[in-house]
Amino acid sequence: MKPILFKDCKFILSLPEHGGIVSGKSILVDGRYIVAMDHFDVLYHEYETLTKKADVIDCSNKIVMPGLIDSHNHLCNTHMNLSRIIGLNYDDIASHMMTTVHDPYGWLTDEALYDISLASALNDIKQGATTIENSTIIPEVAYEAMRKSGMRGILAPQMATSFRLENDDLNWKEMLVRTEDLIHKYHDPDNKMSVVVHVHDLWDTLEVVMRSGLDMAEHYNTQYVTHFWEFSDAVERADKMFVQEGGALNHYLKNELITDRCVLFHGSCLTTADIDRIAETGASIIHNPDINGTNCGNCAYIPYMIKKGINVGLGSDYGSLDVKTAMKLMLLVHNIMPRKEKGVSADAPLRAATISGAKAYKLDHLVGSLEPNKLADIIAFDLSAAPNLLPLVTSVIEYDTSILYFLFTRNAAGMPTSETMIDGKMIRRDGKFTELNEQEIVAKAYEWCDRFIPDLMDRLSRNEHYARSIYRDFTRDDELDLEALLSM
Ligand SMILES: [Zn+2]
Repeated sequence: MKPILFKDCKFILSLPEHGGIVSGKSILVDGRYIVAMDHFDVLYHEYETLTKKADVIDCSNKIVMPGLIDSHNHLCNTHMNLSRIIGLNYDDIASHMMTTVHDPYGWLTDEALYDISLASALNDIKQGATTIENSTIIPEVAYEAMRKSGMRGILAPQMATSFRLENDDLNWKEMLVRTEDLIHKYHDPDNKMSVVVHVHDLWDTLEVVMRSGLDMAEHYNTQYVTHFWEFSDAVERADKMFVQEGGALNHYLKNELITDRCVLFHGSCLTTADIDRIAETGASIIHNPDINGTNCGNCAYIPYMIKKGINVGLGSDYGSLDVKTAMKLMLLVHNIMPRKEKGVSADAPLRAATISGAKAYKLDHLVGSLEPNKLADIIAFDLSAAPNLLPLVTSVIEYDTSILYFLFTRNAAGMPTSETMIDGKMIRRDGKFTELNEQEIVAKAYEWCDRFIPDLMDRLSRNEHYARSIYRDFTRDDELDLEALLSM
């Protein structure tokens, strides 16, 4: 593979602590790694052989930046955006989840999950993501789709025990075994794939699975991820469940089920007192303003979390599948929320979408910024085709760079990359995928989505489901016969 030179970048958009915003420099990549970042004549002088034989990408009218990290997504859930037809009822989260989430999971065949996951990954990558966390229900197939897309992946095989799908009948012990098997087979963060331990949510999964899962994450030195304080109904019911322990958060903290190995999705119902306590654990929180705003009607108190030193990453979840849209929403919604701490700094969304996401998954020594010796996950946007990015100009760099973070974050949503490099490999070039057949992949996913609602409606009209309840959500382990559950 030839070295690659991102030459004379109009902007290199990095964070202040990682070199800030510079203009006119070039980035030399050899193999999987960034070799150097400097002015072309300096690079030519120091790396003459590499520079001479490099494949040159003219970036004199391009913004070049670290690949974005989508820290929470469900690539197989994209069709579920149609579940809104049935109606969203977050006042009764458990029954709502059955028809709008569990049934759509159960409807998925291996083939449908592969096609929908691949098309969704393709959009996320097209919009700038190079690392994607994928919480998923059929992990072996999801893994294949993730590999095919070329992404740097974080595979999160979902474990939930209160329900079971028609096409997936693992009991709670078998679920743990499956996660452990997947870690053995695929967990290799240095080679583009992490496998994390994933408990779906605290109210639909046995506590023994949470405990064993966290121990497993410790044992294999990987992360433990879970949905956390996403719905107010769930928090109220969980608090009732643990009323004698002083509420659910008290219970989980007392039992050390929230640690610095945890990556908590959403946190949108956390109070300031809760946030203070979470901050002490060292857990990361992943902000998903898109799905929180359009589905749940809530919004995590991110300015306060940042003030308290919590590491905040950013996810597109299964909403827009565009991290830049999540960045824009992060910049915007906290100015509107009627709270004491308002707004975030202009570079906070980019930080959340790059280095903080990398930190959450312990990948920050590999990716999340553009620095020599880091893996080459690099994206570029072509300004000559981007009147939407006006007036992002170089002449203001020496006066105030925050305006440039602001303009990029507010205006780049929905804009595809011209180039995407992942692990030193060009995935997109000149605005097109280099190997993937975008039209074919998207067409297949549309076909599945077209079939989903008629199939689901047909089932529901016969009073049948694609999933079944194993025990009531919001049930404590001590109310259940765990041995009996193993035979169900
Ligand atoms: Zn989620």
